[in-house]
Amino acid sequence: MPGDVELWQQVENTAVSLFKDFGFEEIRIPIMERTELFARSIGEDTDIVEKEMYTFPDRKGDLITLRPEATASIVRAYIQHKLYAKDPVRKFYTIGPMFRRERPQKGRYRQFYQINAEVFGIDSPLIDVQLILMLVTLLARLSVKDAVPHINSLGCLQCRPQFKALLTDFLEAKSKDLCPDCIRRSKRNPLRVLDCKVPSCREAIKEAPSIVDTLCPDCSLDFDTVRKTLDRLSIPFQVDKRLVRGLDYYTRTTFEIQTGSLGAQNAVAGGGRYDGLVKALGGPDLPATGFAIGLDRLAEIVGLAESDFVKTPDVYIAALGEKSISKAFEWACAFGREGIRIDMDFSNKSLKSQMKRADKTNAQHVLIVGEKELEQQAVILRNMSTKEQVLIPIDDILEKVKRKIIEK
Ligand code: AMP
Repeated sequence: MPGDVELWQQVENTAVSLFKDFGFEEIRIPIMERTELFARSIGEDTDIVEKEMYTFPDRKGDLITLRPEATASIVRAYIQHKLYAKDPVRKFYTIGPMFRRERPQKGRYRQFYQINAEVFGIDSPLIDVQLILMLVTLLARLSVKDAVPHINSLGCLQCRPQFKALLTDFLEAKSKDLCPDCIRRSKRNPLRVLDCKVPSCREAIKEAPSIVDTLCPDCSLDFDTVRKTLDRLSIPFQVDKRLVRGLDYYTRTTFEIQTGSLGAQNAVAGGGRYDGLVKALGGPDLPATGFAIGLDRLAEIVGLAESDFVKTPDVYIAALGEKSISKAFEWACAFGREGIRIDMDFSNKSLKSQMKRADKTNAQHVLIVGEKELEQQAVILRNMSTKEQVLIPIDDILEKVKRKIIEK
């Protein structure tokens, strides 16, 4: 709604300017893709693919899905358009709606908005740290308080199977305490049990093994670098062994920004490395990493005052009488063309009523155009905060009003 939109724009503009600072380019991906793309990349055994996608056959019976997230489509575009050809290192961002059929509640919607960033072609864990730094910087620029990065490593294809086996044994021993979903997950996708929100499951897995303890030497070094570099940049963080994220394609570092200000839906952003996905979708074997911010949730917790982003008119024009309206209309058009924010209601109502409306719009100045003043070739400009009124000669009015606005 108007009113909320200005805040969203402020968040989006702040994000875009940050992306530009760090060398990201915008990419715009379709709202719909073939279902297969999401099923293959996100993973058949994930909540998203199992029960949350809006999928339907089109007129020819092809299965189409409203995008539940952006990474799969960006990877598809990276491969399809050979965006790696000139330089495999590419950094993209995109902002837009995503769709998941969930039970709607505060902070969880069926159409929600994400700000996404993806980096291709960089192996070094330093880029993962840079992504976390970008998130922390964005939140600081938006005066968000009480937000902490949580990090974990999911290992790689070499060391994860070992951990999965260890975890499966642990879960088998606990199966009587797990919810039916987790009993099913513990066979097909045991990592998912670690982020189950059901209290009895959380209790049951308290002592679950930590993947960080079973990482292979390469993954272990990688995760050490992440931790040490975050320390070096003075970014506080928590290692969270339960952070496995809901999507299958993640490898090595995963992270989430959690906040105490959002209630149950406490993740404002999440991301991580997904080194195998470009290859799995038919592209070259190139590493990748990225994040998604929940815009709906972020907008809830920004600490900005309305005056930081709501723009009020520079000049409200109160015109009295037909002749004045006609002249004022010309000026209003000229002001607007010059980038001076104007408002006027064309009503020919009393000065009192027009001033009242000017007040409501929080205009900084009111230009009072009366027929008598017009005859005298001058109009009144009232500064609404100081209440000071000056007479402005109407020749060259544009420049004179501009100067007054700048003076303010
Ligand atoms: P994900 O793509 O699941 O990793 O989610 C990334 C971020 O998107 C989360 O941290 C949330 O802030 C946001 N998000 C995910 N699902 C929803 C939803 N249904 N409604 C609102 N925000 C969501």
